[in-house]
Amino acid sequence: MLEVKNLRVFYGSHKALDEINLKVDTGQIVSIIGANGAGKSTLLKSISGLIRGFEGDVFFDGHDISSQSPSRIVNLGISHVLEGRQLFASLSTLDNLNLGAYIYKNRKNRASVEESREKVFEIFPILKERASQFAGTLSGGEQQMLAIGRALMAKPRLLLLDEPSLGLAPRIVQNIFNVIRELNQQGVTILLVEQNASLALNSSDFAYVLETGSKILEGTGADLLSDNMVQQAYLGAAKSAS
Ligand code: ATP
Repeated sequence: MLEVKNLRVFYGSHKALDEINLKVDTGQIVSIIGANGAGKSTLLKSISGLIRGFEGDVFFDGHDISSQSPSRIVNLGISHVLEGRQLFASLSTLDNLNLGAYIYKNRKNRASVEESREKVFEIFPILKERASQFAGTLSGGEQQMLAIGRALMAKPRLLLLDEPSLGLAPRIVQNIFNVIRELNQQGVTILLVEQNASLALNSSDFAYVLETGSKILEGTGADLLSDNMVQQAYLGAAKSAS
């Protein structure tokens, strides 16, 4: 479904990603783990078109999307939930959700948009209860649900999730990850960036480890969980949080 080939990204003269190759097959949950500054967010932004002008190629369903606009990429079926949620705090939950359909190709089809919204409310019933509440007044977990819900309004086939567990209590993190697995079972392919390596690897079919812009390891979630280097570098600290 997704293939990234020889991706190199520079911020000015700073090389943030170097020769990254990765694949995501339809129906998988794939995660990218790595320390702060490893380049994980940069990788997701390159896929969703938020970073342009990089070296290398990104293919989606066999088509080169490397120079496509973010809105075109959404319409091809990729939605991106950015790190830190990026909601409109002074708009209601409902308006934030509706904005997720704003660039969706079928936005003029009200029935289709309504169907998406009802589906989001089925997945996150709390968002229906909070529909008229300002997004900025929601709890951290509810805001993360809203950010995911907003991305789902464009009916993605591939969902990019950047640090969905960030700043959330362990119980809420479990809820969010249950939903991620449920979405995947409903047919949404997931590419997940996550600092909580234990949680990510336990949920993933396949995973990549990034270190200072380079891919240093890849394997199934189970393989990486039992890898000595991964255990020492990434799982010691994550264990207590998962
Ligand atoms: P984190 O978990 O802290 O978000 P990350 O693995 O997602 O880390 P990136 O945010 O992709 O890493 O950053 C990769 C590198 O690029 C870091 O060294 C970062 O400081 C740098 N960087 C990121 N965004 C920019 C930018 N807009 N301008 C300049 N440098 C940037």
